[in-house]
Amino acid sequence: SSTNNTLQQDVMDKINNHPCYSEGAHQHYARIHLAVAPACNIQCNYCNRKFDCSNESRPGVTSSKLSPIDAVKKVLYVGGKIQQLSVVGIAGPGDALANPKKTFETFKLLQEKAPDLKLCLSTNGLRLPEFIDEIVKYNIDHVTVTINSVDETGEIGSKIYPWIHWKHKKVFGKQAAKILLKQQIEGIKMLTQKGILVKANSVLIPGVNDKEIANVAKKLKELNVFLHNIMPLLSKPEFGTYYGLNNQRSATDQEVMQAQEVCGMDIKLMAHCRQCRADAVGLIGEDKSNEYNNDIFKNKS
Ligand code: SF4
Ligand code: SF4
Repeated sequence: SSTNNTLQQDVMDKINNHPCYSEGAHQHYARIHLAVAPACNIQCNYCNRKFDCSNESRPGVTSSKLSPIDAVKKVLYVGGKIQQLSVVGIAGPGDALANPKKTFETFKLLQEKAPDLKLCLSTNGLRLPEFIDEIVKYNIDHVTVTINSVDETGEIGSKIYPWIHWKHKKVFGKQAAKILLKQQIEGIKMLTQKGILVKANSVLIPGVNDKEIANVAKKLKELNVFLHNIMPLLSKPEFGTYYGLNNQRSATDQEVMQAQEVCGMDIKLMAHCRQCRADAVGLIGEDKSNEYNNDIFKNKS
């Protein structure tokens, strides 16, 4: 339909102007991730809480945690150093929406102090429907949701998520996986209805969700998710092991490529979004976070 075409064109325009997704924009714009969100409300078997959320960062690298005010100071400082700074994201080290006060306080301050910057956030999706209005209010440009299974029985999900924290209780197993999935799908629907770009990440876990990834991709297309990023499970001792299964191995590059092919992915688009750590700074593909952290906070006791 024509509405559909307009929507598509709209989405394409947004992507083409986006530093994270367009080849042209890529070399000229920089982004910063702010590590203001330490807590998480689910347990992923591949997560090692000592490190950043695997939703949107290289595992094995610890981010320093910032208060909203320090985070905004950092943005203003880095913005003064890097003229091309144009995107600010909150992606951990826990879950952005498990720390709603800190996350939205940061976005609010940014809207006041640096209104030209594009904002993005990354989440496991559990509390997404609850915060759609806030996301719209602060003009968040795009949201990344990690979704590893769309199996409605909760069977596959229960092998990935041992528990979730839901309405002041811990919920386990299949029931937990079902609630998480329902929330993710509802949240994604609400976002795309509001015209907000949604990207999804899936962690490819051999023997657990490898056969499921194609179903995930299909569902995401129905939901108008513009980009699906498949990331390999990295199961090395220094990254923390996969707790759900003994001797869980990593996914190989070849397995990731096969999955991308089966899912019919737009590889060109995807090549431009690198997985940035939760406190990444600089041009995409480069990371100056430590350098700037030292500059900004060296005089702090
Ligand atoms: Fe870890 Fe991220 Fe999963 Fe939370 S959502 S358990 S921080 S990988
Ligand atoms: Fe952009 Fe991707 Fe980095 Fe997020 S992870 S800032 S979307 S390049």
